[in-house]
Amino acid sequence: MTTTTFSMEELVSLCKRRGFIFPASEIYGGINGFWDYGPLGTELKNNLRDAWWHDMVHCPPIGPDGEPLSIVGIDSSIIQNPKVWEASGHVGGFNDPMVDCRETKSRYRADHLEVIANSNGEGRMYAFIEGDEESFERARKLLAKYEKIDSLGDEYSTMLLTDIPTDAFERIVGPNTKEVGTLTEPRQFSLMFDTTVGATGGDDNKAYLRPETAQGIFLNFMNIVDTMRVKVPFGIAQIGKAFRNEVTPRNFIFRSREFEQMEIEWFCHEDEAQQWYEFWCDYRKEWWQKMGLTTENLQMRQHDSDELAHYAKDGCGTFDIEYKFPFTSPGYGELEGVAHRGNYDLSRHTEFSGKKINYFDQEKNERYTPHVIEPSAGLSRGTLALLCEAYTPDDRPSKVFMKFNPRIAPIKAAIFPLVNKNGMPEIATKLHEEMRKKHVVQYDAKQSIGKRYARMDEAGTPYCFVIDGDTLEDN
Ligand code: ATP
Repeated sequence: MTTTTFSMEELVSLCKRRGFIFPASEIYGGINGFWDYGPLGTELKNNLRDAWWHDMVHCPPIGPDGEPLSIVGIDSSIIQNPKVWEASGHVGGFNDPMVDCRETKSRYRADHLEVIANSNGEGRMYAFIEGDEESFERARKLLAKYEKIDSLGDEYSTMLLTDIPTDAFERIVGPNTKEVGTLTEPRQFSLMFDTTVGATGGDDNKAYLRPETAQGIFLNFMNIVDTMRVKVPFGIAQIGKAFRNEVTPRNFIFRSREFEQMEIEWFCHEDEAQQWYEFWCDYRKEWWQKMGLTTENLQMRQHDSDELAHYAKDGCGTFDIEYKFPFTSPGYGELEGVAHRGNYDLSRHTEFSGKKINYFDQEKNERYTPHVIEPSAGLSRGTLALLCEAYTPDDRPSKVFMKFNPRIAPIKAAIFPLVNKNGMPEIATKLHEEMRKKHVVQYDAKQSIGKRYARMDEAGTPYCFVIDGDTLEDN
């Protein structure tokens, strides 16, 4: 159980020191919202990716009917015909309201800023809070100051910036500002990166980097039905990069502009959709626990009706699987969304492409557009959750060790000759050569045995083999 607290700075610093994650383009001052994975980070992320692919595609779980699920994998193109994003609702719909601060020049997502307001209906004042006690106190004091009273009683309420009428924006105290009324009104901001295909350029050749891997799956639905002998219900899975020009990338790799997703679109009959929705919510949470995230750090949260994505409609919903990250604690942040998408996507692609996208059930002699349950997980965010879960402050001189589930640990074992003589290096080398054929293992003969253990503790290596005097005697 991880109850010990630590700051993100400490984790980011370990990640850099031990080669998990580096800022992208660091020698040029970096680039906001982009990260490079070092040798240990790449192994960790690949292990999480491979565990997901194995458990979802090669060996999927047993369904509610006692039969193993049927899921096939694809790898679709990052750039698609731009019409895809009109049909999906991303062009036009995939926007976040944002506000700029005239004083600090910072930019914020309006739906992420929370404020407290005094109870004065007319001429109400608002002050920004960050969800922690300290900023709450600061906001209360600010409001009291503007009210010209000693302290604010209990008569205030909290709300999202997006709920404040725009004519009241001149009465908001923004984050880290000295002046009142420095925030602009919320404006829409397109999150998709665009690019130009071909040499000639121009708007006609404009295309987009995909903001999610899901659409590539819907585009290939008929290809899979026609070639793979699958029967509804079945799933299509994909892992890959997605790009979003996030307004405020932050919290390390939690919100970045280039990241990886692991998505399944589960196609089923409308009548069975609710049952599958419940199945996937339960199963996906269980899976994260299997990867080593503890129950107390995970929670399920149902979206409120005003948060529902553009595809959601009556009867459809979204459950977020949330993790207690150090920067959200005691609250939680989204790790994966399990969405009941209805038949929105397949219907929209039918409408926009003019092609028939549906399924014929031979046994029931029925043709229909399947409904979709979508477990959509962040591979990058999942890697961050695993790093947070593993980080364990320690009394010994190394101060910290990483406690990974062996299945996802970047290095599975280390081999140390106790001393670099007496035949120990020869035995250790032989063991290393044998083990490295099957596992990621490291040979380390440098410095004291304590230092070597400490290095492996920080890398989160679950096993160490020491070749010592006993080994020489009894092997
Ligand atoms: P948020 O509300 O945090 O912006 P979202 O609800 O837009 O996320 P989805 O569109 O449901 O996210 O994407 C599915 C998953 O992709 C998320 O649960 C998350 O793990 C991951 N993800 C989304 N945006 C980012 C990002 N900018 N950086 C890293 N991972 C992300």
